[in-house]
Amino acid sequence: MNPNLLQTPIDYLKGIGPNRADILRKEIGIHTYGDLLNFFPNRYLDKTRFYKISQLERNSSEVQIVGKIVHLKTVDQKKGKRLVADFIDETGKMELVWFRGHKWIRENLKLNTPYVIFGKTSWFNGLFSMPHPEMELVEEYKKNLRTAMQPIYPSTEKLAKSGITNRVFSKCMQQLLQESNNNFFEPLPEDLREELHLLPKAEAIFNAHFPKNQELLAKAQFRLKFEELFYIQLQLLMKNLLRKKKIKGFPFEEVGDLFSDFYKNHLPFDLTEAQKRVIREIRQDLGSGAQMNRLLQGDVGSGKTIVAFMSILLALDNGFQACLMAPTEILANQHFSGISELVENLGINVKLLTGSTKTSERKKIHEALENGELHLLIGTHALLEEKVQFKNLGLAIIDEQHRFGVAQRARLWKKNNLPPHVLVMTATPIPRTLAMSLYGDLDISVIDELPPGRKDIKTVHRFDSNRLKVFAFIREEIKKGRQVYIVYPLIQESEKMDYKDLMDGYESIVREFPMPDFQISILHGQMKTADKDYEMDRFVRGETQIMVATTVIEVGVNVPNASVMIIESAERFGLSQLHQLRGRVGRGAEQSYCILMTSHKLSSDSKTRLETMVSTGDGFEIAEVDLKLRGPGDLMGTQQSGVLNLKIADIVKDKDILKLARHHAQRLLKEDPNLEMEKHKVVKFAYSQLVKEKSIWNYIS
Ligand code: ADP
Ligand code: MG
Repeated sequence: MNPNLLQTPIDYLKGIGPNRADILRKEIGIHTYGDLLNFFPNRYLDKTRFYKISQLERNSSEVQIVGKIVHLKTVDQKKGKRLVADFIDETGKMELVWFRGHKWIRENLKLNTPYVIFGKTSWFNGLFSMPHPEMELVEEYKKNLRTAMQPIYPSTEKLAKSGITNRVFSKCMQQLLQESNNNFFEPLPEDLREELHLLPKAEAIFNAHFPKNQELLAKAQFRLKFEELFYIQLQLLMKNLLRKKKIKGFPFEEVGDLFSDFYKNHLPFDLTEAQKRVIREIRQDLGSGAQMNRLLQGDVGSGKTIVAFMSILLALDNGFQACLMAPTEILANQHFSGISELVENLGINVKLLTGSTKTSERKKIHEALENGELHLLIGTHALLEEKVQFKNLGLAIIDEQHRFGVAQRARLWKKNNLPPHVLVMTATPIPRTLAMSLYGDLDISVIDELPPGRKDIKTVHRFDSNRLKVFAFIREEIKKGRQVYIVYPLIQESEKMDYKDLMDGYESIVREFPMPDFQISILHGQMKTADKDYEMDRFVRGETQIMVATTVIEVGVNVPNASVMIIESAERFGLSQLHQLRGRVGRGAEQSYCILMTSHKLSSDSKTRLETMVSTGDGFEIAEVDLKLRGPGDLMGTQQSGVLNLKIADIVKDKDILKLARHHAQRLLKEDPNLEMEKHKVVKFAYSQLVKEKSIWNYIS
């Protein structure tokens, strides 16, 4: 097909005037013929198949049946009456029901005459019934020619009101298919199509709109989803290849003294196999001469910090500086004290820079950074400030990267003339193939193994009415010498209310656990940094047994002696947040517990979240459920990767097709990285179209 035809403004299509065109543009973003063609039905009425009454199932969708009405009656109900017909075929009996328009129906229906009926069935009192069926006499039915499966297009109130009904949509689509004469550009190479038994483009398009039968519909959808995902993957992979070719990185060729000395003499524990593998992957990247841009995924407690630290040693060994940025001061402090311990005896100069670093200290840090005396800088967003200039930053590590935006990452890049190697770490795992699609320009490492000896965290759900039992449990644990977190939600929109909840909670805890037997810390975002540090410190040193806090303690905080995590109003937290919070316990040798407190009023999503937390501790499993509940829209990176604008595929539901598409895109690029081969001509063309389109949009926005 002439690709220009697809660019034709929708106004030109027969049946669509300027008014309708305007609504199509505004309501569903259909500007061109091409847009319309890629606007797919979300379901189909299958009128290819006839059911017998005995074949009906309780969850069947719309069905079509041939039979007769043998009896009609009116039944009284609370409001008004309903009309009920006994409908039979040779296999059984069911009911047809009308709640409105009795009179007309009564007068027009013929008893004991064969009808084709169509509609949704429900099951009630041991009998199937169909409310307000579409009905047609078999005699009439035979006279009319019809397409097999009828597409139902997604609609909006505005569309319906302006007369763009499903019928209009179908007509326009037919018109468009006729005008284009089924002559579409085929963007998939022939060998690939043959290998995967994919329908040709034209046939797929036609059957996605007007399927001849279920089987062809499935094939058409598969083919179109594959194509869509294939080109997304191709773009991501090309981008990554390009980055590796174009963006030179500092080659860290040596594994020097610091790394070797630390590895041989100072490792505080044996690394897990997963940690070793990831360190190897990072070493390879750093030595390759290309810039590293790697995402390290590892569940809470999987030991990402030591991996970060050893990567830092590689940078220092090669004469470069490094920095480690964390999203909160608490976490930055903690990294600083942990790493300060590790570098003892290694002769490394480490400093901490946060919002509360004193001006005089800042000045010293700035100087030492610029003249190279300072090897490693740990801190918060403060690292991004203009004044912070390195002599030769070789490696930038970002912890808990989901807390930072892309723009912030980019600012770190600009700290040098050559961008430093970048390692971003996250404890919010998402399924691997998905991660590849979302963070297409990152390579990915996964720590999929916890350090040995970790016990599962026992997780339970308790209603507020059981609070006394929970308090008793807390008392017991504290008696054994353990510490306890009690976390309250703090959601921005209702900050004031939440703050009050927190303070009320704190007061009741203080009453329940009085001094001097119990000491209680409190931590929330409105406190001054010095006060926060003080409270955190007391808890870390074991001077307080209970930490009442908001989610400020969500990320990274590490107090191994804390073994109980109580989450108040747990129904208000998202899954990944619950999982993160739970990860604050289970860090020591003791059995740990997580108690999810809620009221009795729970939505079904809340129930699913709670059940998931109780039944599994596996971050990846939790991430999958989260994804199903929330859809991919909330995940970071979805905007850039374009997965939200998918026309037909769904990255969550179609993840197997996604994998397949990725595999074939990879294979194709391996064989022909510049798309120069004759058989890939179509790919090159389709790809260039995509890139062109994108850059236009970039330009506009
Ligand atoms: P996270 O991946 O959540 O950042 P951390 O790096 O904070 O996890 O590690 C969690 C805890 O596990 C720390 O106390 C750390 O010292 C310990 N740890 C990490 N790796 C190992 C290991 N291989 N063996 C034993 N303990 C480990
Ligand atoms: Mg961490």
